[in-house]
Amino acid sequence: MDNPVYYENFEWENLNISQLKDKVSKILSIIPDNVNSIIDVGSGNGIITNELHKKYNVTAVDRSKKALSFVKAKKIQADCSNIPIENNSFDMVFSSELLEHLEKNTFYKTLNELKRLTKKYLFITVPNDENLRKTDIQCPECKFIYNRAYHLRNFKAKDFKICFKDFKIIYSETFGKKVRYYNPLISKIKQKISPAKSWIPYYWTPKNNRQTMCPKCEHKFVYEYKFNIFSFACDMLNILISHKKPYWLFVLLEKN
Ligand SMILES: [Zn+2]
Repeated sequence: MDNPVYYENFEWENLNISQLKDKVSKILSIIPDNVNSIIDVGSGNGIITNELHKKYNVTAVDRSKKALSFVKAKKIQADCSNIPIENNSFDMVFSSELLEHLEKNTFYKTLNELKRLTKKYLFITVPNDENLRKTDIQCPECKFIYNRAYHLRNFKAKDFKICFKDFKIIYSETFGKKVRYYNPLISKIKQKISPAKSWIPYYWTPKNNRQTMCPKCEHKFVYEYKFNIFSFACDMLNILISHKKPYWLFVLLEKN
């Protein structure tokens, strides 16, 4: 979701705690006992932030003014790649479902901000080892192909060893609803041999949840589904060879 227009106008009011109750309980159970102050980088509308705020001294950072209006903790409107706060200001830096959305340049700057702000811990949650192609959409106007959730990168736990060289992973866990992985080779073939309208079958996404905006040309459209036998065959083949696994990855790191 790197398009600023889309991000600001996102329907933040429709995201609420009931959708993430289990996830929040899990997060609370992982936070180490010696944590008092937390900065939540990319807080969005504060679904998680507001729960953390009940127990900890929390500061939220987000670039959307609208999203921050739902946050009950202390808040700062800023880009995650440039946060106007001094080094080592918090016991723990928390970031949930942010890193997968960032373009290369912003991504590396943001990693530096996360490292710089924490005294001790980094707690990151991201989607667990996604094949981004699985939910690609093609814009009918400019033909640009993009991930439905605007995810630009995927992660395994070991990737965080590389991202955060001065930290060690002290805990990692996959968690949440199990979703089926999509084999990278099959997804590549599927995109080559079948039309874009068949890529995301109706049984993956209901009709009322198919509005989107192209991040390149800002064209708004509904990605309708049209059956295609080759596309269907790829999905069936994938069921035979790919396993289901929990949707999220939680990683807790400690500064060396
Ligand atoms: Zn477009």
